[in-house]
Amino acid sequence: MIYLDNNATTISTKKHLQELLLLYEMHKGNPSSPHQFGRSASVGISETRKKIASLLGVDSGEIIFTSGATEANNFVMKSFQNCHVITTNFEHSSVYEPLRNLEYLKCVTLDTITVDLDSSLFLSDVLKNIHKETRLISFLAAHNETGHILPVFDLADFLNWKRWGKKSFSRDLSFYENLNQYVSHHLTSQDFQNIHFHIDGVQAFGKIETQKWMHEGIDSCSLSAHKVGGISGIGALFLRRGRKLISLIEGGPQEKKRRAGTENLIGILSFHLVCDELFADGYWDQVLKMNQLRLFLYDKLSSYENQIEIHSPKNVTLPNTIFFSFKNKKHKNEDFIVHCDLKGICISSGSACSSGVHLPSRSVLSLGKSEFLAKNTIRVSLSKENTQEEILEFLEVLNFFL
Ligand code: PLP
Repeated sequence: MIYLDNNATTISTKKHLQELLLLYEMHKGNPSSPHQFGRSASVGISETRKKIASLLGVDSGEIIFTSGATEANNFVMKSFQNCHVITTNFEHSSVYEPLRNLEYLKCVTLDTITVDLDSSLFLSDVLKNIHKETRLISFLAAHNETGHILPVFDLADFLNWKRWGKKSFSRDLSFYENLNQYVSHHLTSQDFQNIHFHIDGVQAFGKIETQKWMHEGIDSCSLSAHKVGGISGIGALFLRRGRKLISLIEGGPQEKKRRAGTENLIGILSFHLVCDELFADGYWDQVLKMNQLRLFLYDKLSSYENQIEIHSPKNVTLPNTIFFSFKNKKHKNEDFIVHCDLKGICISSGSACSSGVHLPSRSVLSLGKSEFLAKNTIRVSLSKENTQEEILEFLEVLNFFL
């Protein structure tokens, strides 16, 4: 079996599952119980919280466990009412749909920025849209279908300059001054402090070194364990101290009353193992190798330019993702997916939320491409475990199909 659908979910390795069982044996219990089982479960949870916090460079009290990134994103979006929100047309549906519903219910006014691949044009579009009622800006750090990376670090850095006059040591003042020309002169530093900057870090986590996208100007960030080798059903929200949200799930006092419900202990322990892997020596070298494999595939796919249009950038992109469309009517993506499946190769047409429903890919439409291309998409997303032999086998199947 060749698994090339890692942006949908990763297949936890046998090692992960075996270690998880051992860890669960050590920590099982309800963390709210007053006895030793409760205490050991509680230790397992707080250790994981510390590890995630340390990977993000934040405080462990700022990590809230959720059932996944969908919940974490909904938690943030649904906390904002009677205000102005800025997002992009590129977002994952767990941000896009709640915001569209809030707009429909007239709870928020929404500006949806079209993603411009020139990051300074994109940032200028965002900044032009900020006004006194803006309370939330929400972007994904890296796109789950195309792999595009959005300049979340740059925006966070600029916001911090506007909020507190803080400038990065490594940056010239001209960076801030250039962007500042797009900001309304009526806005004060307080107006910028009032803005909550949320990022969806799901696809960036574990694929791009955290210091390249996390920044103290970011107020919240959603994560999901099953995109990085963990099991599904567990996510986390980093929420910066001092920032307040409205609980989505009320009940018991878990997660300091920010998210009620008995903790998903086995999921949290799986997240613990994911973090251990990310801290391990050689992890980022393996990511670099995965990127080499992606570039190899990218170059091979580029040679089919009459039949295939690639939507992912070659550089400045996720190290594992290539999203493309078949250009000709005779090549249907669904047929290719079945064809691959019969050969033991797992790929998808794109986001798990739109594949199967056969909706055009919103990300391809956002890039200004046709509905035909947006419906005839294929996503290949690698893991560190994939090999060149597997990619060659995939290319052989593709060659036969074309
Ligand atoms: N955000 C992005 C960018 C994703 O790719 C996904 C999953 O596909 C999610 C959010 C939702 O994550 P989860 O499956 O943990 O709810």
